[in-house]
Amino acid sequence: MKKLLLLFLLSFFSFANEITQIDLSKQKWEYKWGDSLGDSTLWQEIDFPRNPPNRNNQTNIWFRVQLPQTIPSNSNLYIVSIDLITQVYFKDKQIYSFGEFDENGKGKYKGWPWHLIPLPTDSAGEYLYFRIYSNYGDIGFWGEILILSKGELYEKLLKNDILKIIIGSVSIFVAIFFLLTFLSKFQRIESLILGLLFLTQGLNVFCSAKIMQLFFYYPLFNQYILAIAFFSFPIGMALFMDKVINYKILFNPIKKIWQIHLIYLIIAILGSVLGFFSLPSTYEWFDIFYNFITLPILTFFIIYFFYKGDKETKIITFSFFIISLYWLYSTLIAAGIVPWEEYPSDIAVFICLLFLSYSIVNRLNYTKELEEAKIELTNLTLTDYLTNLSNRKNIDSILKINENLFNRYKDKFSIILVDIDDFKKVNDTYGHLVGDKVLIEISGILKKYTRQTDIVGRWGGEEFIIICPKTNLQDASKLAEKLRKKISTHQFETVGNKTASLGVSTFKENETIIELITRVDDAMYLAKSNGKNRIEVKY
Ligand code: GH3
Ligand code: MG
Ligand code: MG
Repeated sequence: MKKLLLLFLLSFFSFANEITQIDLSKQKWEYKWGDSLGDSTLWQEIDFPRNPPNRNNQTNIWFRVQLPQTIPSNSNLYIVSIDLITQVYFKDKQIYSFGEFDENGKGKYKGWPWHLIPLPTDSAGEYLYFRIYSNYGDIGFWGEILILSKGELYEKLLKNDILKIIIGSVSIFVAIFFLLTFLSKFQRIESLILGLLFLTQGLNVFCSAKIMQLFFYYPLFNQYILAIAFFSFPIGMALFMDKVINYKILFNPIKKIWQIHLIYLIIAILGSVLGFFSLPSTYEWFDIFYNFITLPILTFFIIYFFYKGDKETKIITFSFFIISLYWLYSTLIAAGIVPWEEYPSDIAVFICLLFLSYSIVNRLNYTKELEEAKIELTNLTLTDYLTNLSNRKNIDSILKINENLFNRYKDKFSIILVDIDDFKKVNDTYGHLVGDKVLIEISGILKKYTRQTDIVGRWGGEEFIIICPKTNLQDASKLAEKLRKKISTHQFETVGNKTASLGVSTFKENETIIELITRVDDAMYLAKSNGKNRIEVKY
């Protein structure tokens, strides 16, 4: 908390501070292969203390540098990264160490944190010695080597990392959004992939923010998270291209690419955790595979899709193109081909991810509309256009379901058939449109006076059917009588009074739906022949 406060204050007074930092990488550096200082080989000069010539699989080296003649008091040596472990000596005394050297001068990888080495008060103009071990492709220093005060360093870290912290937080936030979207109703693979991409990007940004080390110093753990994030990115990219962009080609290497990278991620992390190989070496293999196989293939398809695809595909592929450039750039820096630099990579990746999200949210909206349209279509095929009741097709399947429930659970159900009396007269006297209105009004009455669990359908013409689940013949008859009364007492628009005849029956053991329908039809016709405006029950 104190540190945080200090950083906060520093950020306010940053301009008042006079910058006195010294770039030590510009001093004269020398090196000596081997683990012993005492042998007769001469110190050789080198521009920057990294990867001197004639390594020949050697794993030990010494570097030395003569400090400037004047150094401000309370100065520290800040080193961005060292491959891989080191001890620092001043006047034969060890003043700093990172990692542990065994009796053979070898040691285990411990991560790539930045280093801050307090310089002794009498060190101006004197030599500093660095004993280094590395079985990795690179040996020595990497990044900046500066002499500065703690205040200056914190200020520098804060300035460099404030954006990372913001981008990291937003990325994690967006990741949660997409993952929740995936878990919700629309379980689209796009949301899952984007969520994971943002999550790895967020973790990558957080773990690469140097300032985090002040609060959380677990360099090895940190490096594992970074490695997972780093190795996951091509998986996400290829998976995205494979699953989201619709394309038809004979041979699909993109699928292979994400699968291979996924297997690589698992092997690399498990293998180095279990100690079969070191974590840094997995980067070397990754770089070779990614830059020589994955990147060219993905680039080819990115260009191909960019020309062939629709607007959204263009946005997606363009974003991936930018991300690929950033990846290429960062490997060139890691390989020492391009000079080391703090570059705003996270912003580039972040912006690209936002572009991706934009196109995906568009697409999700589109799918949502499609899904709604589908629901509407299904509704259309299941309801009657005029009355909005279930149509014959729907009623048939509901009857089937009730038959199954009866056979399995002995769930009783009854049905009522309603036929309007002398309906032809309505049509003949007032015309078809008025007839239609009567049908709609009758539907309203049937709907209103039945339970939510009852299903009212249009059986055909001016005949309606009501399916009453869990209802015996007696209760169904009561309902039928109630409906008859409601219809006969209703004042219909234009036509005034109208009546209906109703048949009632219930489903019996060992019979078919057809038999039930025939019986209820008979009941209804019985009601007609017995004078209409009445109900007849048939068991
Ligand atoms: P009954 O009392 O014996 O049932 O006499 P009815 O006149 O109702 O005789 P029937 O059931 O045979 O007549 C059905 C009539 O319903 C014939 C047809 O013109 C009319 N009809 C069927 N479907 C519709 C429709 O969608 N709209 C309108 N307006 N009339 C319809
Ligand atoms: Mg009829
Ligand atoms: Mg009729």
